Amino acid sequence: MNLHEYQARDILRRHGIPVPAAELATTADEARAIAARLGGGGAVVVKAQVHAGGRGKAGGVRLARDAGEAAAHAAKILGMTIKGLTVHRVLIAPAAEITAETYVGIVVDRSSQRPVLMVSAAGGVDIEEVAAQAPEKIHRLAVDPRYGVLPHQALGLALKLYRDLTQARAAADIMQRLYGAFYAVGASLAEVNPLATTADGALAALDAKIVIDDNELDRHPELAALRDSTAEAPSEVAARQAGLTFIKLEGSVGCCVNGAGLAMATMDLVKYYGGEPANFLDIGGSSNPQKVVSALQIITADPSVRAILFNIFGGITRCDDVANGIVQATEQIPLEVPLVIRLTGTNEDLAVAVLTKAGFSALTDMDEAVKQAVAKARAA
Ligand code: GDP
Ligand code: MN
Repeated sequence: MNLHEYQARDILRRHGIPVPAAELATTADEARAIAARLGGGGAVVVKAQVHAGGRGKAGGVRLARDAGEAAAHAAKILGMTIKGLTVHRVLIAPAAEITAETYVGIVVDRSSQRPVLMVSAAGGVDIEEVAAQAPEKIHRLAVDPRYGVLPHQALGLALKLYRDLTQARAAADIMQRLYGAFYAVGASLAEVNPLATTADGALAALDAKIVIDDNELDRHPELAALRDSTAEAPSEVAARQAGLTFIKLEGSVGCCVNGAGLAMATMDLVKYYGGEPANFLDIGGSSNPQKVVSALQIITADPSVRAILFNIFGGITRCDDVANGIVQATEQIPLEVPLVIRLTGTNEDLAVAVLTKAGFSALTDMDEAVKQAVAKARAA
């Protein structure tokens, strides 16, 4: 689950990281009032609150000389779309005078099976760009979760970013606190970019990003309450409500599969045969026709889907349940794109009977089914 910048800032502030004061506005007038109050007549920064990085480049972060200009910037930014997301709120903060920008982030790294603390003196810009073009500028530390980030480790990394020992100590303290926040909320990512050096030599976290592992939300109702469904893809919201694991992708072959492993294998095969999956969708292991109905509703609502592929390996999942779900769903929502069904395993014979009666055909060979789905998506 992605948090907004203002939510991430609150968490970091609670963990003792220096984060400048800031307030949310939903209208230009509110922005003006906040800018006058927080800015003390001076400059403020107006920042779009959407779940996307690179807002600065997209025109979603603007400096304003005074409250009047803040209102004008807010009027422009509110309602604009950044990476397909509409801006409903802006954050207003006093503008810091920046003399240097660094990057400090922690991410769960699957290959080392550790949280990895990453820092770079090349802050402010997209860290992905730095990683691609100048990977030597990123310094890493795999954190042993038994001990956390130890003081000497943090100071060692901080000294790669700052010559001034006072600043390095301050940065090391921020790194340890960032790890504390990351651990406390069960984040898969927590980053500060930029960690700015201001004119007076102090450090301040001017931008914050936190992604919370969805599996933590049951343990942390206070974090689950931070979810902003209006900022998420409508299809992903619908899928979550239906108990489906769904991720929207950019391709044209809609996939409906049982089991995450088979869903991944199906996506690989779609790509192997020259297609692009429109989604990852795992209907799970249960036998429940209603889940199939929900899944088809979500897939068919996506205008870029040109063909739909069902790939079901019946174990606990009964193929006849899936077949009944397909028949029920297509009675409710007339299909406008071709459907390719592959099922094999538990109650396969029953499933074929149900589908044949309803005028569908079913395949048992996965390669053949994927090839057909890719060809049909191409032809459409
Ligand atoms: P992002 O583009 O989505 O990562 O948004 P950021 O909050 O990181 O802002 C992008 C850039 O705007 C930063 O790297 C800074 O260079 C600049 N910026 C943000 N806040 C301030 C501020 O208070 N003062 C100044 N001078 N620049 C700022
Ligand atoms: Mn940033």
